[in-house]
Amino acid sequence: MRFFSKMASEITPYVAGEQPKDKRYVKLNTNENPYPPSPEVEKVLRAYQSENLRLYPRPNADGLRVEIARAEGVDEDCVFCGNGSDEVLALCFPAFFDADGSPACFAEFTYSFYEVFAQFFSIPFVKVPLKEDFYLDLDAMKNTDCKGYFIANPNAPTSVGIPRETVKEFCLSVPDKLVVADEAYMDFYGQSCVPLTAELDNLLVVKTFSKSYSLAGMRCGYAIGNPSLIDALFRMKDCFNSYPVDAVCQAVASAAIADREYHDRTVALVVSERERVRRELLALGFTVPESGANFLFAGRGKRGGEEIYRELKEAGVLVRFWNKPFLSDFVRITIGTPTENDVLLENLKRILSKE
Ligand code: PMP
Repeated sequence: MRFFSKMASEITPYVAGEQPKDKRYVKLNTNENPYPPSPEVEKVLRAYQSENLRLYPRPNADGLRVEIARAEGVDEDCVFCGNGSDEVLALCFPAFFDADGSPACFAEFTYSFYEVFAQFFSIPFVKVPLKEDFYLDLDAMKNTDCKGYFIANPNAPTSVGIPRETVKEFCLSVPDKLVVADEAYMDFYGQSCVPLTAELDNLLVVKTFSKSYSLAGMRCGYAIGNPSLIDALFRMKDCFNSYPVDAVCQAVASAAIADREYHDRTVALVVSERERVRRELLALGFTVPESGANFLFAGRGKRGGEEIYRELKEAGVLVRFWNKPFLSDFVRITIGTPTENDVLLENLKRILSKE
């Protein structure tokens, strides 16, 4: 503490979900994909020549940008890659907002890293409450005095998605404000706004390899938008870390995004399990908004989220709980394999039968 800056002493850092080592859990707490990455990833890793690691990687991840551009149907100069979408989102704050300028606007209950990033870069911010049905209140956001928005779509941790057309109308209604659409979970919803980036110069879409590509351990995310938005991100990257995406990651992510068939097949498995688990949770009396993500946000008035979280953990099933107003009534449950989901549901039935 003696040498801490004011910021290091005062900021409240983001708290990542537990990665426990004490025993083997059914791990449904950090929205990881239950399926392995594409077999093409395994091939790339096995064939990787460690001799390559002597050299720095391509600073702008150009080969990977070409693969992403191909998969997303955009030009290469519309793509920026970073060390996880967290890093891409972080760089958006200094790239597009000023410490002495208009605030960044985001929902009161959304990805909590936005607030940490804003504080880290001394960017003013304003938070807008969610609507009663857990949806983002885009009308209220539209009328908020700000320079731009961070919209998690589908939202975390509430899981609800906003259709592409609604995001389009929102962007058109705020032509002089930037809309950063964080689509970390979008592949489980299928309403990506990437196709809109060609016509909307105020829309930046941020995506990740961590969820639908099963590559959370690799740390790779990307942004797609108008080349001038992408240029601002490159300028910030080169003030911070010229090589954020390592060489192995560039090769692995390129292979993963090229294997669309595997991606779509595993996403479909997660989506069908999500619908099954949601039906079962509703039958158990949980409130569960319709999810567009690879997780469910489930609450059960009488039993707060903490009790459910603790009892599940004792039984070896890990879900996410937040000890914060509103959120503390809920737990967030990542969709696992059918077997893992069955273990979750059996335990929930057992816990609730004690009521
Ligand atoms: N956005 C949202 C909404 C998330 O939940 C996460 C995962 N914690 C991220 C971005 C960051 O994902 P990653 O850095 O692994 O790409």
